[in-house]
Amino acid sequence: MDLSDFRHVKYLWDDSIADQLDPVERLRYGSNILGADQRITNTGGGNTSSKIKMTDPLSGEEVDVLWVKGSGGDLRTATRANFASLYMDKFLSLENIYNEAEVKGVKTEIEDAMVDMYRYTTFNLNPAASSIDTPLHGLIPFRHVDHMHPISVIAIAASKDQERLTQEVFEEEVGWVPWQRPGFDLGLGMKEKLKQDPSLKGLVMGQHGLINWADDDKACYELTLSLIEKAAQYIEGHDKGDHTFGGQKYVALDEESRNEILIRLLPKLRGQVSQVNRFIGTVQVTESVLQFVNSVDAPRLAEIGTSCPDHFLRTKIKPLYVDWDPQKESYETLIETLEKGLAAYRADYAAYYEACKRPNSPAMRDPNPTVILIPGLGLIAWGKNKSESRVTAEFYSLAIDVMRASEAISEYQGLPRQEAFDIEYWLLEEAKLKRMSPEKEFARNVVVVIGAGSGIGKATAHRVAREGAHVVCADLSEEAARATAQELVDIYGVGIGVAGTGLSGCGPAIGLGVDITEREGIKSMFEKVVLAYGGIDNIIITAGIFVPPDKQGYIPDEKWALTYAINVTGPYLVADEAKKIWKAQGLKTSLVLTTSANATVAKQGSLAYDTSKAAANHLVRELAIELAPLVRVNGLAPATVVEGSSMFPRDRVISSLTKYNITFEESESTEALRGKLAGFYAQRTLTKSPITLADQAEVAYLLSSSKLSKTTGQIISVDGGLHEAFLR
Ligand SMILES: [Zn+2]
Repeated sequence: MDLSDFRHVKYLWDDSIADQLDPVERLRYGSNILGADQRITNTGGGNTSSKIKMTDPLSGEEVDVLWVKGSGGDLRTATRANFASLYMDKFLSLENIYNEAEVKGVKTEIEDAMVDMYRYTTFNLNPAASSIDTPLHGLIPFRHVDHMHPISVIAIAASKDQERLTQEVFEEEVGWVPWQRPGFDLGLGMKEKLKQDPSLKGLVMGQHGLINWADDDKACYELTLSLIEKAAQYIEGHDKGDHTFGGQKYVALDEESRNEILIRLLPKLRGQVSQVNRFIGTVQVTESVLQFVNSVDAPRLAEIGTSCPDHFLRTKIKPLYVDWDPQKESYETLIETLEKGLAAYRADYAAYYEACKRPNSPAMRDPNPTVILIPGLGLIAWGKNKSESRVTAEFYSLAIDVMRASEAISEYQGLPRQEAFDIEYWLLEEAKLKRMSPEKEFARNVVVVIGAGSGIGKATAHRVAREGAHVVCADLSEEAARATAQELVDIYGVGIGVAGTGLSGCGPAIGLGVDITEREGIKSMFEKVVLAYGGIDNIIITAGIFVPPDKQGYIPDEKWALTYAINVTGPYLVADEAKKIWKAQGLKTSLVLTTSANATVAKQGSLAYDTSKAAANHLVRELAIELAPLVRVNGLAPATVVEGSSMFPRDRVISSLTKYNITFEESESTEALRGKLAGFYAQRTLTKSPITLADQAEVAYLLSSSKLSKTTGQIISVDGGLHEAFLR
């Protein structure tokens, strides 16, 4: 096939880049450009390999080394560290061990045991773990092998007459092997197939994908693309156009009506699917998703489930399709249908587990769906974090494309239930899950920090992010909020997965502007959070204002009002708006307000501030009663945090230094002056140490966390020990 014929894949190979690279880096490069196109392979799916001559570090001799994409990670973002390296001769000797076993074949003990054996063949102490697909590469006697999960080829592989279609599309070029769970036995089967017909360039793997090979890496890349292109062109020629999926039954809602419903629906839905584990949501609304959910055939096809094993580990065996007419039926009917659907889905999942389980199967996992399809609205995916839920949304979107293509050329079929079960509950998968480090305190949580643009709020945003939180950085200054969110994204990365419509395509943190003196603004900020993540867990408010009186000690009325609007009414409005979302979710959570040591100490010159903070202290107690038992409400009472505080601009620091007769130079930096003032304040406390932002953030975090899950209606002072501020 000529390169100019490629219309369904992106040809990205660039000799001027590739020719600068060593053979391992060329493999990495080829993998990245294959993974960059979702039509070629999905996120986390597929693997690539090269057999490369290298110098043995022990003997100094030249040896053949199999470099193959290891377990975990993703082709698009893979680095050299994601590739395992195995001595070819040692790897090939494993065939003898396999053959000596009395019982061998797919799903036998020896087959699973082989995965641990790969470690003995490691070249040059490379710590990357080999994947279960390693024998698919090592046993094929060509220098370069690509194994992809392309939509067009899976469509053939998931069709009823897949063998005939393979022949029709690829003629003698590509063979076919029926579905078999990847492992040593499948590798041997492919090797045998190639022995029978040495002219084969690749194989369609039933219900799974494509594998092909060549002795030159660029040629292998071009072969991969040309095979995928060939399948895609064949499918294009058979596309059903408007008759796809049996035609349209429902009409999509416009964006505004859709968002209106999603904003009401998502927290409710999140609460329902999060009864075992909390989930983060992703909304996917593309033309092809809408065409599917609105179609006549959607209920039938959804029931068949996804077919590529790589897909359904995240999408589950099938999605929940909710039969609701967006034009004629009400929101209440949607909720009713959804609740019934969820109950039926869970019962179905339990029945599937019971019917397919084996004596040594792991216990049943969360029976809730991770993909929910609603006519008019689109697809809602759930995952343990944003990245996972984006991958889940991506996978089902790809499954839709596979079904469209398969139904155009034949009839779509799913993987047999038992086979699906044996993948989902594979002991090797279970072992992988067990090896994962335990989830962090705020994993699966959405934490809104109001005031995150600077000072305590910014420090708190960083603190909760370290505990795995999805952080909504909100601030009066949208620019400052976005800057903090960007810092977090830079540290933690956006993760893998390429789905998510609009705000829902976000990473682990977003920055939003909000003025907490206005209810409408708060409401619209929360709506954005719901669209981005599906709901809200903890809220921490650090926003506050200190308006000093003038030289005569006078505070103008409007400044008095502003102080109360921000320090008292603001937190109340936030709590009142959040209450609606929390109630819809029905999940336990927490709210933290920031008050002040000044709330309990009367002193000259801060009348408005001190009384507003005293009111905030009592607001904590009132809200704790109002919002129980769903939400714990506590207060953090800082004192004199000078470090990085927007409440201590240079002018205020200088006037304080002057007031306390502390010597300083005008040329000193603001932070240096703040340090001097902080040192002075520290001497007035019992602990004699400056009070830092980190000290405050730690308590904001603790109060929100499960570590203080039995504490509500309390104020914790973080003031270094001011005996006059002791609470009574
Ligand atoms: Zn695969």
